[in-house]
Amino acid sequence: MILDMFKLTGKIAAVTGANTGLGQGMAVAMAEAGAKVALVGRSAMDETMRMIDAAGGESFPIKADLSDPSVTAGVIDAAVAHFGGLDILVNNAGIIRREDSINFTEKDWDDVMNTNIKSVFFLCQAAAKVFIKQGRGGKIINIASLLSFQGGIRVPSYTSSKHAVLGLTRLLACEWAKYNINVNGIAPGYMVTNNTEALRNDTERYNAILDRIPAGRWGTPRDMAGAAVFLASPASDYMHGFTIAMDGGWLAR
Ligand code: NAP
Repeated sequence: MILDMFKLTGKIAAVTGANTGLGQGMAVAMAEAGAKVALVGRSAMDETMRMIDAAGGESFPIKADLSDPSVTAGVIDAAVAHFGGLDILVNNAGIIRREDSINFTEKDWDDVMNTNIKSVFFLCQAAAKVFIKQGRGGKIINIASLLSFQGGIRVPSYTSSKHAVLGLTRLLACEWAKYNINVNGIAPGYMVTNNTEALRNDTERYNAILDRIPAGRWGTPRDMAGAAVFLASPASDYMHGFTIAMDGGWLAR
């Protein structure tokens, strides 16, 4: 039956930045679809664990500060050691720094690049090694951005990192499709999370953005659920290297 293709029963997922925001939304969605979920991040995962418990799912927290790319192999090892394998990796953790490019510091460049692209690459690499060894394929979902497609303003390292996420997603898809590993992305639009708090506190910017969204509202973590489960499930087995926009129509405009 077609809906069975969207089930994640028996699958094991790792979601980075799962304590809040879009990562929390996707982790809960995957648990609802039947996956066991490793919750990776630097903050306590209690709230997400409670939400997954309430949905009848199973989760396991893995403490990791992904600003240090050298921790990435240990993160994947910890998920495999706890659940006995890995089928799905969601690279969601990310940060943003806002400053005019003319004043942008090397620290704000490196911090964003380390978390948003360098750790993402090495998590992909560590997960793919497991997928290849297991011999049953795998799913990687990289969280991109509208700023994978557009320039933006005052976020030079963020825009660079998210363009890199889009390119890396394509490249890894080309290299690993032969192992039945699907590497795809989701580009969220303007979503109500900590990441956009500064923007939402600026009433003028908030309303200007709202006016440009065809759907007439900002997105929520729940808006990521369907695309995340689709890309994690057998329903997307022939999809490689594509980044879906979940943006209320922003890029269509
Ligand atoms: P968020 O609420 O700020 O969540 C970001 C997540 O990343 C948090 O769980 C955060 O943990 C984690 N994280 C940040 N630095 C980390 C580190 N060094 N080590 C481990 N975890 C770290 O924002 P969000 O909107 O849900 O962002 C999720 C993803 O969506 C990001 O990649 C972001 O760029 C992308 N995105 C968001 C939007 C949007 O409008 N919100 C739009 C496009 C793309 P802490 O809570 O501990 O900081």
